[in-house]
Amino acid sequence: MSAAKKTDKPVAAETMPSGTTSGTPQILLAHHLKQLRLPTILREYDKVAREAAHEGIDHTAYLLRLVELELIDRERRVVERRIRQARFPAVKSLDTFDFVAIPSLNKMLVLELARCEYILRRDNIIALGNSGTGKTHIGLSLGLAACQKGFSVSFTTAAGLVHQLMEARDERRLLKLQRDLVAVKLLIIDELGYVPLSTTGAELLFEVFSQRYERGSTIVTSNLPFEEWTSVFGAERLTGALLDRLTHHVHILSMNGESYRLTQSAHRRKIAAIGVDDQPAVEAVDPDTGEITSR
Ligand code: ADP
Ligand code: MG
Repeated sequence: MSAAKKTDKPVAAETMPSGTTSGTPQILLAHHLKQLRLPTILREYDKVAREAAHEGIDHTAYLLRLVELELIDRERRVVERRIRQARFPAVKSLDTFDFVAIPSLNKMLVLELARCEYILRRDNIIALGNSGTGKTHIGLSLGLAACQKGFSVSFTTAAGLVHQLMEARDERRLLKLQRDLVAVKLLIIDELGYVPLSTTGAELLFEVFSQRYERGSTIVTSNLPFEEWTSVFGAERLTGALLDRLTHHVHILSMNGESYRLTQSAHRRKIAAIGVDDQPAVEAVDPDTGEITSR
């Protein structure tokens, strides 16, 4: 067959064998830094050089500063990539979680879990409670913490995962999906219990738990207490075997309480009902006299 096509166009610098590029030092440097995948150094070297000259910093310290900037940026990019790969429906963190609103939840345990040591021990977490009590929020927050600590994470709902598994089975790529699901360090399965599963669906989901047993951590959130899990999985034996694996090394987050959504919207309705003209008086303390005044 014919060799490389002849063309009148000039050959791009990228296609040159290394060492044969030509141009000014800036162009060469930009090219080499791109090839070495050091985008932060490329973006910052000129500015940092001016700062270094101004501060009288020597070449080694200048190089160190640039390399440190690249490392910090690279870590940030890796975390961002992990967050994208986790497919969170929203990014939520514990910073915005109001523990006072859900007294049944053990705050100290949640904060300890956010340190992610349970992932090293391959422990599981199950969050149980009625709708709207922040189970998904906690799952997302622990998932985000895991991404930031360097663990691979995958977030899915029970129904979504079963759908994915059935589709993969029909398309003869179930083994590959199962391998991927085992490989992830933290698998978050949200909303187990809202939809009853078909026999095949239950078996496929059971296999996921079984394959991940003592290999990786799984977080499950459910609106159903354990006694009612049989209604989701159908068979009692299967449910028993599943609970056996899932709860062998487990941290239970008990999240029964008032729905945060309902409480918040009731609060908003109350404020709206009071009306603009009927605002409660604002109290202020006179800094000199200590007297409380209404305005
Ligand atoms: P669940 O998964 O238990 O049904 P969600 O986590 O979806 O509940 O919570 C419903 C909404 O209320 C979400 O927007 C969530 O961020 C918010 N929310 C729930 N509980 C809290 C809380 N204690 N502090 C702050 N936001 C909360
Ligand atoms: Mg939820």
